[in-house]
Amino acid sequence: GYRSRAAYKLKEINKKYHVFDKKKSQNIVDLGAAPGAWCQVAKEECNSNSKILGIDLLEINPLRGVSFMQANMLLKSTMLAIRDYFNNDVVQKTDDKSLLTVDVVMSDMLHNLTSIRFKDHLKSVDLCNAGLVVCFNILKPKGSFFCKILAGPDVDQFVRRCSKLFDNVEKFKPRACNDSSREFYIVCRNKKDIKISLKE
Ligand code: SAM
Repeated sequence: GYRSRAAYKLKEINKKYHVFDKKKSQNIVDLGAAPGAWCQVAKEECNSNSKILGIDLLEINPLRGVSFMQANMLLKSTMLAIRDYFNNDVVQKTDDKSLLTVDVVMSDMLHNLTSIRFKDHLKSVDLCNAGLVVCFNILKPKGSFFCKILAGPDVDQFVRRCSKLFDNVEKFKPRACNDSSREFYIVCRNKKDIKISLKE
């Protein structure tokens, strides 16, 4: 069985967007991975030679074929640690581009909710932005990114930032998401192969 119901959201995302590839090995990063259901689904739906790294503030019980790192994604050092993890295989780091080693960045990160909707929205957008920075720094051209976001006024600005980095950006609410919940996903595909600035 899966470690959480979140598994079904990822299954729907992959069914619709085909982010995992059975035919070739991929480097996959799962942000906010605890308790590990998304990593279970990724493991099932990707090529068996793929590398999966899950990151969370919380400790995660070991899962065969998956690596975990307990760290805070709001710290730059965590992004650098992820980069180093996948860079171990790169024989020679010749240029910036050789540091782009990841195929899929996925984020289901969410903080502990408060009772203030607007505050929760802003915090969720902060976590999405942390995911986008990871993409900016280590996602390969043509790579994919998707992240959970809570509805609110800053969603559109976040989507615009994503559109600078990706050819295709969509909003998607899996059926497995509670209707009443304000969460949905921003799905970004085809990272552009150009140097851009994320600043407005
Ligand atoms: N996708 C997971 C699964 O399938 O098991 C469920 C993820 S749960 C909805 C959200 C997770 O995001 C929590 O475990 C939380 O600890 C983590 N999280 C929140 N803020 C974070 C941060 N700043 N850095 C890393 N993880 C964070």
